[in-house]
Amino acid sequence: MLGTDATHDPARRSFVETANLARADFPLQNLPFGIFKRSGDEVGRGGVAIGDKILDLAAAQEAGLFSGLAEKAAVAAKGPVLNALMALGNHAASALRARLGNLLEVDSRERRKIEPLLVPMSEASMQMPVAVGNFTDFLTSSYHSERLSPSGKVPPSFKTMPIAYHSRASSVRLSGGTVTRPHGQWLDAENIMRFGPTRALDYELEIGAFVGAGNELGQPIAIEDARTHIFGYCLLNDWSARDIQRAESVPLGPFLAKSLSTSISPWVVTEAAMRPFRTPAFVRPPEDPAPLPYLDSLRERENGGFDLKLRASLVSKRMREAHHGAERITSTNFKHMYWTFAQMLTHHASNGCNLMPGDIIASGTTSGPSDESRACLAEITSRGTNPLTLPNGEIRGWLEDGDEVIFRAKAEREGFTPIGFGECRGLIGPALDWPAASQ
Ligand code: MN
Repeated sequence: MLGTDATHDPARRSFVETANLARADFPLQNLPFGIFKRSGDEVGRGGVAIGDKILDLAAAQEAGLFSGLAEKAAVAAKGPVLNALMALGNHAASALRARLGNLLEVDSRERRKIEPLLVPMSEASMQMPVAVGNFTDFLTSSYHSERLSPSGKVPPSFKTMPIAYHSRASSVRLSGGTVTRPHGQWLDAENIMRFGPTRALDYELEIGAFVGAGNELGQPIAIEDARTHIFGYCLLNDWSARDIQRAESVPLGPFLAKSLSTSISPWVVTEAAMRPFRTPAFVRPPEDPAPLPYLDSLRERENGGFDLKLRASLVSKRMREAHHGAERITSTNFKHMYWTFAQMLTHHASNGCNLMPGDIIASGTTSGPSDESRACLAEITSRGTNPLTLPNGEIRGWLEDGDEVIFRAKAEREGFTPIGFGECRGLIGPALDWPAASQ
């Protein structure tokens, strides 16, 4: 039912020793795709992560290590972005992933050809994996929606459709950058609208899905086919300025509070690699309506969800200077999401809207029912009114300049090799001075 195959066999090991460590994010069973540069590279190159190394896909292709569909995929994955690989559809990426598993295995006959093509991650700089054409952010955790709703209830449409807003593609950036505190309009304590640096900067711990093969304008996608249009997944931080959001969101929804920046992790964990970690879709309370037929399928009910542990940690400037480790502030799981990614994708295309290879569809904040699973500060601190205390005594209602937020994700299941997503990091930088007129 899960569709697992030899690529998920937990008995398999790699000749790259770091891939076989118990806590490795990138064992032989994962093989996520990304774009990297070595020092001196002008443009990004396609690679696959194995342990603490990256296999250079273009070099491997030039060395004649691929044939057939796997070779077609390797050519498309050369870089400088992965959109062409995604456009080929998941069969091609799966063929490449299966071949890469054989090439990197402990008893690989090609080991001596492969070893010189491995680049240590410490000598590479990761790049944006795709040119993002479109970015849509959903709202699929009922727990997040309830905690932030004045009525304590989800909006009426939440239970019949995955709700979303169109966000900004141009400000999606790779993990590791600085997020500059944005200016915007917000109400001060006297209820007067001001313009200035946000006083309520927040993170949202989310999973992003990359669209693989797209659909033509006017042509919806059946729920049974939706998974074949999802290439893979990343960690995503939907940075949010809550005071700006509050001032601008009625009646047209989020705008500048969200488009300030969005961070994604560099490695794209494929749909195929995530198969062992499928779980039944969220079990709805009996009083909730069943999904409408176009969003319902037996397969989605049986394994539309993921058992994926998600963590957010925070390290302040003072903690960093004192060599304190980051403090975990969110521990949640993707299985709490009310809607599945296939349902999001089918709903997105249900009016004929065309989805493009490399488009990002994000889950929305992944909060669960428990306190520790609250996946943004607005929930943790009750909108800043009940601040969080860090181990060194600092308090946080919202993010301060110099704070760094770090996301990690791990998929685990008895009988399978755990896989990880790497990291998604972002450091809050101070607001810039408002620009003076140029003349
Ligand atoms: Mn969001």
